[in-house]
Amino acid sequence: MVLDARDMIQPAAAASEKNIQEVLAQGAAGVSLRSVTKKYGSFTAVENLLLDIPAGSYCCLLGPSGCGKTTTLRMIAGHESITSGDIYIGDRRVNALPPAKRNTAMMFQNYALFPHKTVWQNVEFGLRMRRVPTAERRVRVGEILELVGLSQTSDRKPDQLSGGQQQRIALARALVTRPQVLMLDEPLSALDENLRVRMRSELRNIQKQFGLTFIQVTHHVEEAFSLSDQIVVMDHGHIDQVATPSDLFAKPASKFVAKFIGDNNIFAGTVLNAVPDSDGLDMIELAVAGLGSIFSRGQATSVGQTAACSVRPDLLTIVSTAADAPSPQANHLTARVVDVELTGYVTRVGLLTEATGQELLYKVRTADWADAGISEGQAVTLRWSAHDCVFLAD
Ligand code: ATP
Repeated sequence: MVLDARDMIQPAAAASEKNIQEVLAQGAAGVSLRSVTKKYGSFTAVENLLLDIPAGSYCCLLGPSGCGKTTTLRMIAGHESITSGDIYIGDRRVNALPPAKRNTAMMFQNYALFPHKTVWQNVEFGLRMRRVPTAERRVRVGEILELVGLSQTSDRKPDQLSGGQQQRIALARALVTRPQVLMLDEPLSALDENLRVRMRSELRNIQKQFGLTFIQVTHHVEEAFSLSDQIVVMDHGHIDQVATPSDLFAKPASKFVAKFIGDNNIFAGTVLNAVPDSDGLDMIELAVAGLGSIFSRGQATSVGQTAACSVRPDLLTIVSTAADAPSPQANHLTARVVDVELTGYVTRVGLLTEATGQELLYKVRTADWADAGISEGQAVTLRWSAHDCVFLAD
């Protein structure tokens, strides 16, 4: 796929707000899942999903392979039946409605364009399937191509267009059916890194411009962070957390989420003490075998319970001398540098705790790492505040 200057055209730059309202006559709709379960025979693919996706928002279903993202998307679209529960699109319960009656559209992996059809024919296809009369098709395809900035290329075949233009055809083909919700199944997965970054910003721009509800499946953490108003993290057929990107980053709700979203350092232990803090959270002291006390903040479970805490690798600091005993202001431990990986602006430093051999990760600005003058094999003291350490109940 080729990237060229045309990719940078803002697709609907010429389109007025009024045009968009006219073309997408029905506006956006929210989506609600009420205790939705899907079983394949005796295997439960997703269980008891409870989820509200606000109208006009960009929502990413994020999780590892096999966690149930695609099944969930397909159930909303109507391509998969549900075993129990209810799905609402707007205020309509759509459980029994076929895909074409749900006011949704789907954009598939690699865009799934017809290579032998022109841009116009690709976009027109869905309307033909719905038996929309010829005159109306002509108007609607013309309008949507103008909105996405492809009027001048309507008689070309997809392989005569750049990667960005191909994505816009796929979007136009979905949007021409006037959906209230657009679903995207890993649309960027086949693209190389550069193109993927550009295409996701264009997707976000189009979603904002049209104001529709977008629901996207991805296993790419960075993609979910950059696109979403709301991220739904799934694991083994369950929803682990629903949050804005910034809340997810700052406050992962489980060990799985903390690990999945990015390299967090996790310490498992037993709750030793919990003291209410000024802002409604507790200051929790966790006894961690071999490491002693580690302080974190969150909603405490009872004393004696097993639990964990998590600290981001960019919130650690390396200090040359150990402080006194660990305290809420200064968790600390001794670790040995075992791996230094320069990735660009950021250097990833792998460490092993001296006491337990647990692997840890420290991320630091490359310039700061160079200034620190620390080399592989050296023992260091890592330090972090309890305020940067998130308590994770089991
Ligand atoms: P990926 O990112 O790999 O696409 P996913 O999170 O989208 O994964 P799903 O495709 O929703 O996962 O699958 C969830 C689980 O349901 C998997 O264990 C999968 O093997 C199983 N599954 C999906 N479709 C079927 C089917 N038609 N019959 C039986 N099991 C299925």
